Amino acid sequence: MAADKITIFDTTLRDGEQSPGCSMNTSEKLEVARALVELGVDVIEAGFPIASPGDFEAVQQIAREFGDRAVICGLARCRKDDVDRAWQALQDAPQKRIHVFLATSSIHREHKLKMDKAQIVKTAVDMVRRAVDYCPDVEFSPEDAARTEPDFLCEVVEKTIQAGATTVNIPDTVGYAVPSHFKHVIEHLKKNVSNIKQAVISCHCHDDLGLAVANSLAAVEAGARQVECTVNGLGERAGNAALEEIVMALKTRHDYYRCQTSINTKKLYPTSHLVSNITGMKVQRNKAIVGQNAFAHEAGIHQHGILQDVLTYEIMKPQDVGFVGTNLVLGKHSGRHAFRGRVTLLGYELDDETFQKVFDDFIDLADKKKEIYDQDIVALIENRTDETPDRWRLVSCHATAGPGTIPTATVELTGDDGKVHRDAATGGGPIEAVLHALERVIGISASLENLQIRSVSKGKDALGEVSVEVLVDGRTYRGNGVSVDIIEGSALAYLKALNKAEADRQRHQAATRPEPKETQRA
Ligand SMILES: [Zn+2]
Repeated sequence: MAADKITIFDTTLRDGEQSPGCSMNTSEKLEVARALVELGVDVIEAGFPIASPGDFEAVQQIAREFGDRAVICGLARCRKDDVDRAWQALQDAPQKRIHVFLATSSIHREHKLKMDKAQIVKTAVDMVRRAVDYCPDVEFSPEDAARTEPDFLCEVVEKTIQAGATTVNIPDTVGYAVPSHFKHVIEHLKKNVSNIKQAVISCHCHDDLGLAVANSLAAVEAGARQVECTVNGLGERAGNAALEEIVMALKTRHDYYRCQTSINTKKLYPTSHLVSNITGMKVQRNKAIVGQNAFAHEAGIHQHGILQDVLTYEIMKPQDVGFVGTNLVLGKHSGRHAFRGRVTLLGYELDDETFQKVFDDFIDLADKKKEIYDQDIVALIENRTDETPDRWRLVSCHATAGPGTIPTATVELTGDDGKVHRDAATGGGPIEAVLHALERVIGISASLENLQIRSVSKGKDALGEVSVEVLVDGRTYRGNGVSVDIIEGSALAYLKALNKAEADRQRHQAATRPEPKETQRA
C-alpha cells in the first residue's frame, strides 16, 4: 500500500518573517524561496501582500520566479481588498493559492472582531467565494481554532468547504493545544463535518508550550494531510513547528506514521544554515536535527555504544540531513577540483564567478590556517553568496589598543567613485574605534543593536564569524563578516550592514521621484 503523502506548507517567509528581528528584504526572500524549492516543499507561503508594498513585491516576484516549482501562497484577511491584493500578487504563478483567515474563537469574536457567530460564518463564506472566483486553490483558516467551540468549528469548516475551500487549516494560533487534545480536535472534524473529504485538513501549530511539532504529528495521526511549518521553527513568539523536525520524524518513524513527504532531507542542514544566516537568528547548539550538537555522540557511555554499533544510539545518519561536522577536509595543497567536489558535497551550487571568488578566499585562508574544515568552507560560501552590490569596499583597516593607550583605528575604503577614502577614529576598544572610523568615511550614523563573534571551527587560528545588527533610520540591517582577524571581521560585517542601509537610501530617493498614478477603483 502506498504511503500517504503529507503536503509540506512552508511559512518561513510569512509567519517566520513576521517575528521580531527576522524581517528580510526582497532579494533575501528570493534566496530563501530558491532554497525552499530545492528542498522540495510543496507550498510556499510567500507573504501577506496587503501588508506593505514590499510584501506585495516579494510575493509577486516569488510567484513569477518559482510558481512553476511549488504552489505559491499569499495570505489575506477576510476583507475584499486583502483577497484582491493577494490575487494581484499571485496571478502570474502557474501554481497559486489564496489563504484566507478569520478568527473563530469566542475570545477573538468578542474582543477583537466584535462579530457574532452568524456574522463570522457569513464573512468567511463570502471571502472564500471571492477567492475561489479568482483561483480554484483556496485555503481557509479559522484563526485560534484550538480554542474555538468544537461544534462551531465544525460549522465554519463545513460552510467554507461548501463555498469552495480546498484546504482547511486548523491553527493553534496561541500555542495552547496539547497533543491528545489537538488530535481530538481533528478527529471531531473528521467525524462531524459532512463534506470533510472534499478538502485537505491542515494544521498550523505554535510552540508556546514547546509542543508545536508534537501537536502537528498528533494532527497527522488523526488524518491531517498538510503540515504548516517553518525552517528552524521561526515564527512569532516561541515560533512555529520546525519543518526539519516534522520531516525527520515522519521519515524516521515511517513504521508508525506510514506517511511520506517530498522533501530532499539532504538539503535540511544547508537550508537551515542559509535561513539562520539571512535572518541572523542563530540555531541553538542542541536543536534537534540541525543544531551543532545534534549528531555529537560524545558522552563516554554513548561513544562506547556508537563504536560498537552505529545504530545503538544513532536513529538518523548525519548525512541524511546534510549535516556538516568538523571533519578536516582540505589543506593548502588541495586543488581546485577537490575544492569544487567538496562545495557540491556540502549542497551548494555556485556559478563560475562566485566559485572563483570562494576559491580565492579559500587559498587566502589556507595561507593563514593549516587545517580547513567543512564549516570554514560553508562560512566562505555564505560570505560570498550573501553579497550585495556594495558601494563601499574595505581596502585596509588598522587598529591599535591595549592598556594605557587610546584605542585608535584607521580605515581605507573605496567608494563607487573609484577613489580611496580614509579616516581615523578612537573608541573604548579597537572594534568601537573601527566602527566609528567606518561611519566617518561613509557619513552615516548607525546604532549597533547587537554584535556576536563566534569561531566557525576549532583551533586558535579558526575563522571568526562576526554578525552585527544595526539600526539606521528606524530600520534594522544585518551584516556578516568572516576573517581569521576578528577586527577585520567586525569591519566587514559593519560595512556590509551600512552598505545595505546606503542601498536602501538610494532606492528610497529613486522611489520618491513622481510617477504617473494608476487610476484607483472605487
Ligand atoms: Zn502562525
